[in-house]
Amino acid sequence: MKNPEKSKRSQANTHPKAGFGITLDIYEQMLENQGGGCAICAKPPGERRLHVDHNHKTGAVRGLLCGHCNRGIGEPKENEFIMHNAIAYLRKYL
Ligand SMILES: [Zn+2]
Repeated sequence: MKNPEKSKRSQANTHPKAGFGITLDIYEQMLENQGGGCAICAKPPGERRLHVDHNHKTGAVRGLLCGHCNRGIGEPKENEFIMHNAIAYLRKYL
């Protein structure tokens, strides 16, 4: 007879649930390691989990980001030159 508790737990540990092959256990560990919030703005997750951010070239998982910060680096195509210029532009009008 199968142990329902055991099979439930093993499924939770092996089945990717948070995106990009990240289990919920790993997600929780990553969240703790980055201080409990988004890796850029530090805002803690609300009702929805943070996004699992990854390097689009290598596929490597980088960290957990809120939706705003995920779009904030995605829209300028993660281009450092554009993002530096955006900061310089904003600072001109402080
Ligand atoms: Zn953020």
